[in-house]
Amino acid sequence: MAEKLSAVKGMNDILPASVPRKEILPRAATWEWFDDVVKRVMARYGYQYIITPVVEPTQLFVRGIGEATDIVEKEMYSFTDTMNGDKLTLRPEITAGIVRAVVEHNALYNGPLRVWAQGAVFRHERPQKGRYRQFHQLDVEALGYPGPDIDAELILMGRALWREMGLKEGEHYRLELNTLGQPEERRAHREALVKHFEANAGVLDEDARRRLHTNPLRILDSKNPAMQPMIEAAPRLMDFLGEASRAHFDGLRALLDAAGQPYRINPRLVRGLDYYNLTVFEWVTDHLGSQGTICGGGRYDDLIEQIGGKSAPAIGFGLGIERLLLLVQELQVTQPDASPDVYAIVSEEGSLATAMPLIEELRASGVTVVLHSGSTSAKSQMKKADASGAKHALVFDAAQVTVKPLRDRDAQATPMPLASATPAAVTAALQSHA
Ligand code: ATP
Ligand code: MG
Repeated sequence: MAEKLSAVKGMNDILPASVPRKEILPRAATWEWFDDVVKRVMARYGYQYIITPVVEPTQLFVRGIGEATDIVEKEMYSFTDTMNGDKLTLRPEITAGIVRAVVEHNALYNGPLRVWAQGAVFRHERPQKGRYRQFHQLDVEALGYPGPDIDAELILMGRALWREMGLKEGEHYRLELNTLGQPEERRAHREALVKHFEANAGVLDEDARRRLHTNPLRILDSKNPAMQPMIEAAPRLMDFLGEASRAHFDGLRALLDAAGQPYRINPRLVRGLDYYNLTVFEWVTDHLGSQGTICGGGRYDDLIEQIGGKSAPAIGFGLGIERLLLLVQELQVTQPDASPDVYAIVSEEGSLATAMPLIEELRASGVTVVLHSGSTSAKSQMKKADASGAKHALVFDAAQVTVKPLRDRDAQATPMPLASATPAAVTAALQSHA
């Protein structure tokens, strides 16, 4: 036998429930269920589906996400196309690709655009629960809208998703909110921060001294107890916001309050990508350990111009599907039953040529039917029918068809002569002990 190959480290197979393997990730049926939830919610909010390539020019992410970010510095799968020397990257997120497409096709020419996308993204991180090298995102973007009405719409759409899935505010998830203001406001704040840190140089640890001029904001994240009083006393961005930025934030807060959506203002919430301004938010949970952020987003009013388009405001969010479905699994949120309605068996006396046309008609009318394939004993066929989770077996013999209830022990089987076994008659028998 040839040597077996395995999936690349940090990249997972999402398997059907019937494959006997211990897996931490939810099975494929849960993903299908989530897809349905997403489609319903997106349609309700008037968002259109968009698909962009998994591979993009490396430059898109360097320019879009920012050179000094974790993603661009160390997490990207980049390679050179050996045919022509092009520098390419497996997308580490979906926003930049959508913005590239919007600019390329001049998609805002007729006005703003609301879109959503879904698919695999790639980041070279240390794999652990809730953190993988290939994972999947749901991505929602509203382009050409200055907000804050749209900021509120996107946040409430997140809530609609959680609610539709049966998750509960507070108990299962909560919203964290912040504003990053505008670049010039951030610059003024940064200068004040550096001054403050320099004035307290004696308290800074080695890490902080190294970051003082590269990324002073990161010093605020330090866990060093000796530095906490100095960090507490540091100037806050909130105090550097101009009137417009403040009004934007207040406007969003008023809309969330009116819609009854609680939130915590978290001044430490800065997000890992350079392109954000004004509103940033995260949906977090306490049930997934340190991988507790299931969804994050924010406004990126300068990105479209940076990618070469005509300046236009925009906001969006990315949701980690693995993390969300792990949460659903952890909380044992009930999902619709994915078992078939019917498991069909053709006995030795029966004939497939008779059974298949009837089964096709049942399927066409919306009944889900799994047809047994292969020759095994009648007993093992019934075992398979049972294991399929189907509510009924449909057994084809030489002259009759029998509907056998599988879940209700007291219910009677309904035999009917082949000649009278129309789709309507079979459906009626299925429903008689539904
Ligand atoms: P984290 O701080 O956990 O690294 P992030 O800020 O890098 O997250 P985003 O770029 O905002 O994440 O991506 C949106 C969402 O994608 C996250 O909120 C998270 O749910 C999910 N996510 C991010 N990285 C991974 C990963 N390596 N594996 C699985 N899901 C991920
Ligand atoms: Mg990250």
